[in-house]
Amino acid sequence: MNHTNSTINLTAVARELEAQGPTAVLRWAIETYGDGLAVATGFGPEGIVNLRLVSQIDAAVHVFFIETGLLFPETYALRRQLQARLGLTITAVYPELDPAQQAAQYGPDLWRDNPDLCCFLRKVAPLRRHLAGKKAWVTGIRRDQTPARAGAQVVAWDEVNGLVKINPLANWTSAQVWEHIRQHDLPVNPLHRQGYPSIGCRPCTRAVRPGEDPRAGRWAGFVKTECGLHLNYEL
Ligand code: SF4
Repeated sequence: MNHTNSTINLTAVARELEAQGPTAVLRWAIETYGDGLAVATGFGPEGIVNLRLVSQIDAAVHVFFIETGLLFPETYALRRQLQARLGLTITAVYPELDPAQQAAQYGPDLWRDNPDLCCFLRKVAPLRRHLAGKKAWVTGIRRDQTPARAGAQVVAWDEVNGLVKINPLANWTSAQVWEHIRQHDLPVNPLHRQGYPSIGCRPCTRAVRPGEDPRAGRWAGFVKTECGLHLNYEL
């Protein structure tokens, strides 16, 4: 289906930019959307590549992460390292309730009792509020990460959030991402070396065993594989 955003035919733009690489995609996004662009990161390897590429084009671009209040200390340290290294400001976006308020209202372990609701309160709702009024956002999604991401385009209309979604690394492999990190000696979360390929909140992330799917350590024991930031659901 062709998606047209005001005067921009996003399908045609995606087709044109697909082969040009992530820097061309990000340059186009920054030139096209200016202050209306928001770059999201969860401090995974893909997000770190995006941040480096953005910093090379314009370090003043708005970059943010969802501060659930439940991230690993290593993740908070990585935020500080990346800001210093790349000259970016990485803004924290907060849920309405802090962890103590959520515990008082919903019980101490909502992530165990109802992880979809917990993710909605701590990630999806703050993301939607933050993106309201923006024109486009950048993510680190790659097609081969999960079946749900297999159809991701480098530029597409995001129906759920009502703005353009830019996935500069959609057609990259994990090996390309790690090669970029190695080539540019970028800091990464030290937990990756301790068996955590995918790192989210502390209560919902465990190390994976050899041979397990890289995302098996997220919401272990639940069918859930996505926090909902990139899915079309409402609670
Ligand atoms: S990842 Fe876990 S702790 Fe974090 S918001 Fe989702 S359910 Fe809650």
